[in-house]
Amino acid sequence: MYADRIKSLPPYLFAAIDKAKQEARERGIDVIDLGVGDPDLPTPQHIVDELCQAAKNPENHKYPSYEGKREFRSAVAAWYKRTFKVALDPSREVLTLIGSKEGIAHSPLAFINPGDVALIPDPGYTVYKSSVQFAGGIPVPMPLRRERGFLPDLNAIDRQTARKAKIMFLNYPNNPTGAVASRDFFKEVVDFCADNQILVMHDNPYSEVYFGEARSPSILEVPGAMEIAAEFHSLSKTYNMTGWRIGSLVGNADIVAGVGKIKSNIDSGDFGAVQDAGIVALQSPPEMVAKLRQVYQMRMEILYQALKGIGLELSRPLATFYLWAWTGGDSMEFTRRLLEETGIVATPGVGFGQFGQGFVRFSVTQPTERIEMAAERLQHMGTSG
Ligand SMILES: *Cc1c(COP(=O)(O)O)cnc(C)c1O
Repeated sequence: MYADRIKSLPPYLFAAIDKAKQEARERGIDVIDLGVGDPDLPTPQHIVDELCQAAKNPENHKYPSYEGKREFRSAVAAWYKRTFKVALDPSREVLTLIGSKEGIAHSPLAFINPGDVALIPDPGYTVYKSSVQFAGGIPVPMPLRRERGFLPDLNAIDRQTARKAKIMFLNYPNNPTGAVASRDFFKEVVDFCADNQILVMHDNPYSEVYFGEARSPSILEVPGAMEIAAEFHSLSKTYNMTGWRIGSLVGNADIVAGVGKIKSNIDSGDFGAVQDAGIVALQSPPEMVAKLRQVYQMRMEILYQALKGIGLELSRPLATFYLWAWTGGDSMEFTRRLLEETGIVATPGVGFGQFGQGFVRFSVTQPTERIEMAAERLQHMGTSG
């Protein structure tokens, strides 16, 4: 019945976790779900209010434009200017997406012919791999290893693969490892990809969720990046808007046009009222996001200490809301035991790729009291197991 592209998908690990979670709940266990990276806090009220107003505007009841409202794209460009000092032309270098996942999933269709190679981070967000496969391409993993700060070793990519590669997906701050990349690393990427004629698709939804002095850079800050790179951005993580479905693709005009061309044959743009609310979100006072960072950082510290306490190896992440811990064993086995002994759900690292084996990902997107309760339960796991 199904096409080969469906058969080529790995058995959906997250469905198995959902099932185990469900069974635990049925046994009466109070499950603390640190598996999913979905902010628990509500969307700020001024953004919700704008949506309610904008929903009443009949202009928003018609088909939206394919590329997105001019005003939203201008708001994205202004935000990039303020945030990264990157200048973008809203008419050619910004595209509205129905959430960045949508844009990521459709991108390979614009650049990959059957048999073409795409370089993808491993461990990594699973959409990079499946979308390359859907386009008939060959995903080649770039291992993200702990000893390299979870940055890929570009020198380890063999010449032939580099020559054949059409696109490279990257994602910093990184899900699932919590790693960040420097401007120097991005410079290396841009030089490598320029030499090998590879387009860089950088996924940057966590730029505002950082804990150090400064946010980590946009790849577009690097000289030469605008020639070969584009960046996915999203309102989901910065403004607790995962349910709203709005993001953007910005950068090289030809890349943006290519993805836009695919999209215009698939969807009919993002709901105008959501874009109006998105404009208001992007203009939110910076203190609002700073407060959110404080909340995540506090939770992170609680869970970090607790995980250290049971002997896992991990470091404090500089960004994202994930802790990426080395278990020293099989990651599926660890998460199974964790759920059994503590009622805590975490994501086995192997679900993000073969190089995630042995790791486990904890997300701090649950209320702080629940994180504290998780820490408490972990103490008992430490003494009994
Ligand atoms: C959450 C996430 C996204 C998806 O964001 P949406 O804009 O909600 O689709 C994309 N990439 C990574 C790495 C993510 O963690």
